[in-house]
Amino acid sequence: MGIWHKPTGCPAAADGEIPRRTHAAAAPSAGTVACGNCQNQVRAGAKFCDSCGTPMARHCTNCNADLTASAKFCAECGTPASPPAG
Ligand SMILES: [Zn+2]
Ligand SMILES: [Zn+2]
Repeated sequence: MGIWHKPTGCPAAADGEIPRRTHAAAAPSAGTVACGNCQNQVRAGAKFCDSCGTPMARHCTNCNADLTASAKFCAECGTPASPPAG
């Protein structure tokens, strides 16, 4: 029987891998819309302002098309959008 050569150390040492920390920083104005009530920057597509609770998404009373918070008229049929309550 020969000499059993036992490997020493760990040859496959994982190095050079820097863990990336994804920091949930507040995104700049990209993808946000201003709340019509408090001007808070709300995520685009949000149903309500996360600051004051004002509904962000409205619908045309005539054709039920989606209206933006700042829309004064329906983009589909031209019906005047009902102003937000208050
Ligand atoms: Zn608001
Ligand atoms: Zn409409």
